Amino acid sequence: MSDDKSFEFELPYDSPVMPVRLELDDELKFRCHRGVSCWNECCSHADVTLAPYDIIRLKQHLGMDSTEFLKKHTVPFELDAHGVPGLKLRTNDDGACLFMQEEGCSVYSDRPTACRYYPSGVLSMKALGEASDEMHFLLVREDHCKGHDEDQLQTIAEYRKEQGVEEYDDLNREWYQIILKKKSTGPTVGKPSEMSLQMFFMASYDIDRFRRFVMSDSFIKMYDLTDEEYEQLEKDDIELMKFGFRLMKQVFFGELTIKEREGAWEKRVEERREILEYRRQVEIAEHQKKQEEARKASLEDGSEEGSATH
Ligand code: SF4
Ligand code: SF4
Repeated sequence: MSDDKSFEFELPYDSPVMPVRLELDDELKFRCHRGVSCWNECCSHADVTLAPYDIIRLKQHLGMDSTEFLKKHTVPFELDAHGVPGLKLRTNDDGACLFMQEEGCSVYSDRPTACRYYPSGVLSMKALGEASDEMHFLLVREDHCKGHDEDQLQTIAEYRKEQGVEEYDDLNREWYQIILKKKSTGPTVGKPSEMSLQMFFMASYDIDRFRRFVMSDSFIKMYDLTDEEYEQLEKDDIELMKFGFRLMKQVFFGELTIKEREGAWEKRVEERREILEYRRQVEIAEHQKKQEEARKASLEDGSEEGSATH
């Protein structure tokens, strides 16, 4: 087990039990199988936070597009005090995961990272004073989970392999880093604009909507990607997800991760100026029309009153 360094420490799910920090070669005495007396107990009060690759795997498993998946299977929460959006798996009114069935998890081959790790978890953390993040692990020993009474002993590294979680961590890691950086630079950078929060949500979670955005004329006019790159983003969810991480860095931290077309920004500002001017003219015309109608109405009222007195 690890020494007592000072770390930012957040659980990927709610638990009243204080977790213990672990490293890759620490041992875990645990086994979950159909014969345990607590079978499905953990999924009966599920609190599962989702990362981008979790959603891609689940929506592909269910044959849904991401927008439909989010609507049916997730609930929002806030990842930090600035309102950076997070998502959790939706449960029924009793707190049970909608994917739980008597025989176990109905999406088992594509279950999310938090489910794969339980009763351990992953933490992307930055030691105070250090520049880069490190991966650490935690163990939560909850009374209802009888898997801890089983005899199987394996290291966290072996457990990660057994649960197929390495691929998830590899693909989600850049996203965890963005959140960590956003949290640590939050007070200096300040609250992100509503538009950048919407961009974060779309690129993190609603990948099919994000695809439509990336393939739109206005995006293509703005960003200088090759035809091959656009083709790949059109057909490959994972490449699109990684591209989304680059765009988030551009939007949140001003890192120039995606080349903009020469003069595109100025052109966009000019187009925007023209649109705003057009809107202003429409508003003025509407205002004048309303005033004219009001003037006519009051003249008509006046002449009716006048004729009534005659
Ligand atoms: S996705 Fe599967 S493993 Fe995860 S909480 Fe739901 S039923 Fe349990
Ligand atoms: S042993 Fe733990 S992880 Fe397995 S079903 Fe029971 S509560 Fe869930």
